[in-house]
Amino acid sequence: MIARREFLKGIVYVGAIGLLPLNFHGPVLRPPGSGRDFLARCIRCGQCIEACPYDSIRALDITAGAFIHTPYIDPLRTPCYLCQQRGPDGKDRPISRYLRCGEACPTGAIKRIRNTKDVLAEVPEELKIGVSVLNRKICLAWQYDSCGECYYNCPLRDKALRDFPPNEVIVGATGIRPWVDPEHCIGCGMCNYVCPVKEYIARSVMDRSIKLTFFEERYAAMVRNLIGSAGPGVRLPAIRVVLRP
Ligand code: SF4
Ligand code: SF4
Ligand code: SF4
Repeated sequence: MIARREFLKGIVYVGAIGLLPLNFHGPVLRPPGSGRDFLARCIRCGQCIEACPYDSIRALDITAGAFIHTPYIDPLRTPCYLCQQRGPDGKDRPISRYLRCGEACPTGAIKRIRNTKDVLAEVPEELKIGVSVLNRKICLAWQYDSCGECYYNCPLRDKALRDFPPNEVIVGATGIRPWVDPEHCIGCGMCNYVCPVKEYIARSVMDRSIKLTFFEERYAAMVRNLIGSAGPGVRLPAIRVVLRP
């Protein structure tokens, strides 16, 4: 009897998936190493999710229709750390021989990429899962000569995220002026994650239940001003990852 009930539940479940949109393509960031053949190869086994030491990878839910259970990264919740660990000296060091998600993938949907400084510095094409865009109008560094969190936290600092665009004269700047080099940005989402220009920080003054960290409090007044003057519809945070065309 129980087996029959489970069987019927299964039919309903499969039927429900069939009714969901089959043209769902995202916008989702796949783990680094996901090639163009990713969807054809991924068997939804979840091994990349288990292997990620930072829990950066999640599985799409039923709203993704035919792409349910395929892995993705939501940088606002947990970015990809590129299997690096930052030491007390501020330097990132590899924690494995290969990026773990690609090493665990049994079908090659996520390609194996060696986790060495030399390989990552060359920024192989398969590493690129997205690209960051920076909106200077709501960036604390560009507007208030403050912050620079994205620059300091980018695992490819001075390659993907750089300080001071060449050929631009910036008067009176003492702090960082970040800009993204799309050739080298891989879309790991770290800048997206650390950028303090977020809606909940702006809302915290009205909504007393939102408790800010010391770090967030430091920027809160400036964030409120910037988001307030940008008006509704502005895309947040000030630096965010989008899919590559
Ligand atoms: S590269 Fe490492 S940190 Fe990034 S998603 Fe893969 S396993 Fe996780
Ligand atoms: S997504 Fe941001 S943090 Fe990651 S490589 Fe690109 S610029 Fe750097
Ligand atoms: S973290 Fe955000 S606000 Fe700060 S410098 Fe980068 S883009 Fe600007």
